[in-house]
Amino acid sequence: MSADAAERIRLDQALRGAMERDEFELHYQPQIDLRSGGIAGVEALIRWHQPELGLVSPARFIPLAEETGLIVPLGDWVMRTACAQMAAWQQAGLAPPRIAVNLSARQLWQGHAAERVAAVLCETGIPAGCLEVEITESVVMRDGAEAVQALSALRALGVTLALDDFGTGYSSLSHLRSLPLNKLKIDRAFIQDLTTRSDVAVLVQQIIQIGHAFKLRVVAEGVETRETADLLARSGCDEVQGFYFGKPLPAQDLEALLRQHSRRPSLAAVKP
Ligand code: C2E
Ligand code: MG
Ligand code: MG
Repeated sequence: MSADAAERIRLDQALRGAMERDEFELHYQPQIDLRSGGIAGVEALIRWHQPELGLVSPARFIPLAEETGLIVPLGDWVMRTACAQMAAWQQAGLAPPRIAVNLSARQLWQGHAAERVAAVLCETGIPAGCLEVEITESVVMRDGAEAVQALSALRALGVTLALDDFGTGYSSLSHLRSLPLNKLKIDRAFIQDLTTRSDVAVLVQQIIQIGHAFKLRVVAEGVETRETADLLARSGCDEVQGFYFGKPLPAQDLEALLRQHSRRPSLAAVKP
């Protein structure tokens, strides 16, 4: 057995018991409205505190959980935990306007995604309009008609839909137009080169224009500098997310940011 296969088995075994052992946690990263400077929403991002391996990145275990099917119960846990957190923030009068949750391919295809989400909305009592579901580009491009059906069922609940990591897959623009989306998230790979490469800057400007032509809000991911944020604002980008405005934070720390924001409704003065 190769070292890689052995490592995957070890990781899979550790992953299986992790939910019962309460080793997962959600962190929340702010998304900023470039026009108002206010918090437009937060994205829930999973973290795994594995006792032997330390903090394991979702980039390492989400693909494995997808392969083994564990993503379905794990994804349900993420959805319930994120919506319950939003309900708690709403009760405390601190809630951001929206909470975004990533949905993996398998969750979307393994049936009843909309029913599962509807059950969580009902259980936690948050309005559907406060929930955004993020789906990666490769998922929706894989099967046209089925994707439209699954996404339409989610939209019918009143949740909004964002296309994540835009630009990394093979989007057909005509297919993009047929999807019931609300938002495009431009992948970090483009944003990190935005201020140093003029070809990338032109490409990003064009993505923003395409998004707007399709009546979508456009979000830039991975904004790490003021210069990048300024250039995106000048290019008409609607929202930004990235370390410059705030790293993904545990709920309590994000709460401090929300409190600070409720006193001074602009993040412009909050230092990264
Ligand atoms: P994503 O949904 O595109 O999330 C954005 C990723 O970029 C996050 O990585 C975030 O920490 C990182 N990021 C945000 N701003 C910056 C920045 O300014 N600079 C840099 N270098 N990175 C930034 P993270 O948390 O490691 O998550 C990686 C991916 O794992 C996510 O990409 C998403 O595809 C997946 N993921 C995370 N949580 C979940 C989940 O609950 N369910 C599912 N299905 N997938 C998840
Ligand atoms: Mg995402
Ligand atoms: Mg992304």
